[in-house]
Formats: sequence, structure tokens, C-alpha cells
Amino acid sequence: MPRWCGAKGRHMKIFISSDMEGTAGVVDWSQCLAGQPEYDHYRTLLQDEVNAAIEGALAAGADAFLVNDSHSKMQNLRPDRLAGRARYLSGRHKPMYMMQGLDESFDAIFFVSYHGSMSAPAPLSHTYNPRAIAEVSLNGTVVGESGINSLVALGYQVPIVLVTGDDVTAAEAAKINPGIRTAVVKNALTRFAANSMHPAEACELIRAKAAEAIRDLASTEVPAINLPATLSITFRNADLAEMATWIAGIEPAGTTTVVVTDDDPIRLFRTFIHAVVLTRDIAE
Ligand SMILES: [Zn+2]
Repeated sequence: MPRWCGAKGRHMKIFISSDMEGTAGVVDWSQCLAGQPEYDHYRTLLQDEVNAAIEGALAAGADAFLVNDSHSKMQNLRPDRLAGRARYLSGRHKPMYMMQGLDESFDAIFFVSYHGSMSAPAPLSHTYNPRAIAEVSLNGTVVGESGINSLVALGYQVPIVLVTGDDVTAAEAAKINPGIRTAVVKNALTRFAANSMHPAEACELIRAKAAEAIRDLASTEVPAINLPATLSITFRNADLAEMATWIAGIEPAGTTTVVVTDDDPIRLFRTFIHAVVLTRDIAE
């Protein structure tokens, strides 16, 4: 089979879910919120990191890319500046959120510029909504967005082969995805401090790890999550947890914690998203 052939057909298709808090140099909300003075600068650093991931994969034989912008209003990238003639899925109100656009036709998944879970000592750590969610565990393991999003990858049987971000975030992603390549572009100090690589060096590392991940695609596996799977969600207050139990399948497990179990990982992910969206209304 020629190198440009993915296991699933003529093209080797890569799904990229891009966040922003994991970019080298980013340590504050003001740097990654549209409208803030520093945002325009940091969005170009994010764009460079996304492009580095695409370029590395291109060099290793991948030839089709979908970038699902997953940060804030999900319109942080410049479509005309995307490498690899990548398609760009942007904008708010996506039912599958950070995993919108993934299906079984993809060969691999990259998580670019990801951040740690709410309870992790990592820059700008949070789990979907920092005003509502205190901690989430999946089958007993504390997970962040990388772990929760892995449910969708499992549902479509696509391996997650690369995560970029800080060291704590990389370790979290590796708990659920044992074979994942990690491009650690900064070392976490606190939730608002990190020691970052120079952006040019960060991009070189991401390019190299993306290429490695694609070259070794045959040896990677889908996320290691036993089914049926249980998500346990601890909210920041009792009202939020009570509201989450309005959703079918979500049961109370204490004053601030709820649980939901499902044998369908995609349905489980969607139930979680419903809880995120519903509780947004009363999150302080
Ligand atoms: Zn995020």
C-alpha cells in the first residue's frame, strides 16, 4: 500500500481538535479571549502550532485534514492560513462540541493546545466549564477534556495519537490513551504560570511528534476505556448537581456529585454535553 493510503481508504484523514490554553506562552485568560488586547497575538501562536501539527502529518503521508476549532466561540483560526488545505469547522453551537465532525472515516486524531482538568495544577486548567464543574472522573480516573473527548474517539474507533500542551495535560491524556505521542511545549508551575519553550521550538517539536505519530499509526490503539463506562461529575455547588439530574440517565451521588453510566460511549459523551449546556444557565 502506498504511504499516502490510510488504512480506511485512499486518503489518510486526520481530525484535529484545537483548543488554545495549551499553546506555548499562554498562561492567562486574557491571552485567549477574543476582544482582549493580547488575544490577536496569541491566536497567531495557536495558528502556528495547529499548522505545525498538520505539516508534521503531511510529511509522514497524511493528506486530508479537518480542524475543529474547540476554544471559546470556536472561531480562533484564520482559514486562509491553515496548512495542508485543511477544512475548518468553526463556530458555536455544535452538538458534538470539541469532537464535532469526527466519524469513522478518519485515521487518527490530534488534540492541539489542550489544557489540564479543573483539579490539575496546570495553566488555565478547567473541565469544559470552570464556573460549573469541579472534577470529572471516567471509570474512577480523574479526566479533563482529553479524557472525556476520548469517548467519541472510542465510539468511532479512531485512535488519538498526539496531544500538545503542558506536561500535566500530556500525562492526563496518556492515562486514557497509552500509545499517544505528547508534544510538551511548556512545564506547568501553577494554574497561572508555566515555563514555556520558545514558540519556534514548540512548533518544531509538534511537527516532529506529529510525523512520528503518523509513521507509527499501525501500532496505535483506540482509547483504553472499559464499557459500559461511568462518568462521575462533581459540580461547584449543589444547585448545579441537582439541575444535572433533570437529564435522563444522570443520577445523584451526593450533594454536589452526579453519575451516569452507558455502554454507548458517544451517547455518554452527549449526556455529559447536555449537563454542561444545561448548567451554564445557573453557573456563577
Ligand atoms: Zn478547553
